[in-house]
Amino acid sequence: MADAIGDAILAALDDSSRRFVFPSEVAARDRLERSLERSGRKALPLERFISWDAFKALAFPGPSQGRPASSALRSVFARALMEENAGKPFLNALVPRSKAAASPRFARMVAKALPALRDLDGLRLLSPLLRDWQAIRERYAAFLSERALFEPGWNDRTALALSGSYTLFYPDLTTDWTDYEQAVRAMPNAALILAGEERTRYPAAAFATIVDEVRAVLIGLQKAITEGIDPARILISVAAPESVLPILEREAAVAGVSLDMREARPLSESAGGRLLADLLRLAQSQRSFSAMRSLLLDRSRPWKEGLNPRALIDLGIRKHVLAALPTIDIWEASMGAKDDEERKLYRGLRSASERIAEAAGFGQLRSAFDAFRRAFLDEAGWTLAQNDEIARCIRELEALEEASKAAGLGRIQGAAAAYLEELEELRYLPVSEAGGVQVYRFPVAAGCMPAVHFVLNLSEGAAQAASRPLSFLRDDERERLGARDRDLSSGLIALLVRSGERVVLSYSEDGPDGIRAAHQAIDPQSPKSAGLADDRDAWLPNADCLAPSGTAALRQAAVFPIQSSSARAALATVLPPRAAMHGSSGGSDARSYSEGSPERARLLGSALRERVAAAQSTDGALTISDTLIEELESCAFKRLFYRYLKLRPVDTGLSFVDALMTGSIYHNALESLFRPLAEAGLSIVCGESANGGEEGAGASGEARRPDTAELAAALDEAIALQERVHGPFAGMLLRTSRPAFLRDLERALDALLPKLDTHVPIIVEKPNLSAALPERDAMLVGRMDLVCAPRQGAGREPGRGAVIIDFKKRSLPKLKELAPDEDGRLGRYQMPAYAYLLKASGYEPEAAYYLSIEGPSGGGKRLVCAFGDEPKAAVPLEALPALLTALESAAARAAGRLRRGEVYLPREDDQERICADCDYRPLCRAHYTVH
Ligand code: SF4
Repeated sequence: MADAIGDAILAALDDSSRRFVFPSEVAARDRLERSLERSGRKALPLERFISWDAFKALAFPGPSQGRPASSALRSVFARALMEENAGKPFLNALVPRSKAAASPRFARMVAKALPALRDLDGLRLLSPLLRDWQAIRERYAAFLSERALFEPGWNDRTALALSGSYTLFYPDLTTDWTDYEQAVRAMPNAALILAGEERTRYPAAAFATIVDEVRAVLIGLQKAITEGIDPARILISVAAPESVLPILEREAAVAGVSLDMREARPLSESAGGRLLADLLRLAQSQRSFSAMRSLLLDRSRPWKEGLNPRALIDLGIRKHVLAALPTIDIWEASMGAKDDEERKLYRGLRSASERIAEAAGFGQLRSAFDAFRRAFLDEAGWTLAQNDEIARCIRELEALEEASKAAGLGRIQGAAAAYLEELEELRYLPVSEAGGVQVYRFPVAAGCMPAVHFVLNLSEGAAQAASRPLSFLRDDERERLGARDRDLSSGLIALLVRSGERVVLSYSEDGPDGIRAAHQAIDPQSPKSAGLADDRDAWLPNADCLAPSGTAALRQAAVFPIQSSSARAALATVLPPRAAMHGSSGGSDARSYSEGSPERARLLGSALRERVAAAQSTDGALTISDTLIEELESCAFKRLFYRYLKLRPVDTGLSFVDALMTGSIYHNALESLFRPLAEAGLSIVCGESANGGEEGAGASGEARRPDTAELAAALDEAIALQERVHGPFAGMLLRTSRPAFLRDLERALDALLPKLDTHVPIIVEKPNLSAALPERDAMLVGRMDLVCAPRQGAGREPGRGAVIIDFKKRSLPKLKELAPDEDGRLGRYQMPAYAYLLKASGYEPEAAYYLSIEGPSGGGKRLVCAFGDEPKAAVPLEALPALLTALESAAARAAGRLRRGEVYLPREDDQERICADCDYRPLCRAHYTVH
């Protein structure tokens, strides 16, 4: 590519009085380096290669006896001004007088607009909004002149008589060129090289998606490096980097390409900014759990030794610290006698964050922030980059402190919030620690001359650059005043086309934010004709292309040599040998447990198998419950990790009053209600419905037993028990829900008691029962919620018949799960297991019911009869023997699987149903595997 800029520089290099001016600092630095290379000189003065901004500072320096206003000063001024407007309104349209109290919220907008208020010159101030801005401008001008300050953007546009001579490259591609054009053109010693009107369309590689585009660029980049081009001489420019950089970073990391992102980020996202924001949010939210979690679980923070931030979060989770309460400090109220360390940490954070939030000036804020860091953080533990970021944040805080002194401002309410706003405005580019291919935001690198320059994402919306006069006004105001945007993007793309020995432009139709049009200055073409191969197969090695001799493998090895051999090595160790994967039982040494299916299970190693069997045995016999049977019928992999390895996800979030807690309340309340009857041998009396239902008096004519008053007391006792375990916040929430709990329990009893009239409770939650199984060395175990026996004749002794009740919070089993399928298998083994246990204890099961306390979702009856004499029973009583046979077979299957140490996932057809809400997905990876 011809290099007109380079040639012009070279031709004038011997004239030591000539300086070269470029649109950006990046281009100026790059051109200095290229000029050294091309001229063969050892050194050149830095000040001969300057940016447009540096040139303006030389030619238009402002009043000689003043100091330029800083961004901190603008911020401080705007805040004070808008606070003044809140107290004594002088603005009418920018902030309507009726809303003047909200003025401080506009401070940031005003601070940003101040440098551009010079554009008001010469305008007829007809609208109230323009008059408001003029009023702000006048106050700002008075403020500056009282303090011998000046606003650089307002400087006189008469250029100084500079010594030497200047060549300005493409100044018309800068946003404020028109402001200075007349003065610069009048300078006798300034030569201009202008872009002018640009109408050419340049070939650009077009891709379907941004991911394809990024990958093609990375492949092109790898090829360039393989050809021997120094990575330091390759540049990437990205239009709208906010949405593309995450994709570029991710793909480059996968491809092992090192990038050096030269994209400044707001200081508020730096280590110091985030820390301050978290502390402020902690105080403002009155120490909400989520604010506490953001502060304490940010693992980049070096907490002092001896502090245990995780313990405080765990306490919040255990005690359900869901929200701040107006009357009590819920964290304090949730701590017990053993929580001294957590209490100390909590109190320290509370007072430190409040000091920061309440600081009434930047000086006070600085001391509060420093005190927090000294008390809680091990400053030696910050990384170099974090240290840099914090130092920069502190410098900005000092600048604000100085500015507020210069402005003569006393107390500044909300200093921390103002500081944080300032950090959001300031951008910070860290010194790059490692080398890598430099990546710039479009169009910063326009004018550079690398060996290869990739320019990505040239869509209409992304590649934007324009000069916007009166940008502080609303669009309708701008239009009325005839303000016209001056588009610079086509000229910048034309300059980028000349900014490299080889330049590749590219665009994708489906970008990060959806389908978009190509920029008008490009001509989308096939990647190949635009100089970029669309070689998808050359993207990283995958399992199908790892055969060493395949053509795809050879291409990949050429482009990604390290990744190719690493992937081959990794696959050899990660995946088991093919024979082991597809053998009928897998062999005891095949450890890829998630490869197993119910028909082709993987096997535990002998040591692990024995430990599992031991954990599942009592006195040498395997203990089998309906839960074990059902878990093994669905996913043995999950059971292995959950029951035996006890591997559980770590909670970092809060649960509200969850189903488990509510279910416990119902169980405890019903236990308290029925146990006294069991102990006294008293029968249940259906009696009058608590809700005015139709049941009427019981057969005996006695009053209802247990009665509603007893239910209320039993519920209160159950809530108190949960509060002791889960803390005061949970107790408070449960009491709020008490009327609903009571209503549901009463309705559930209304549905249940008619089935139990004259029956005596014989089992209420206890005891656990066990029974020998035909399977050798195996016994069935189980615990029932409620079992009642009909009273025998007129005596008090219960008979041997048994009605089984199982309480469910809401959902009930489906009838088809309760009846044997064509293979004689069941979806639920719970009731047959209970019937089996009761028979072994000398009872004759007569019926079994599931009772939904809250009523099944979607409506319907609260009771489901699993077996019995009822017409709607899932299984008639006479078919009970078939259920018991199905149970014995399932227990034998479960025992066999346990003894063999089988591990497997559900069949694929069953996974949607079984795997819903399972926490073990990242382990089994059943839902991530591409077959
Ligand atoms: S997600 Fe499915 S296959 Fe994986 S462990 Fe859970 S239940 Fe088993």
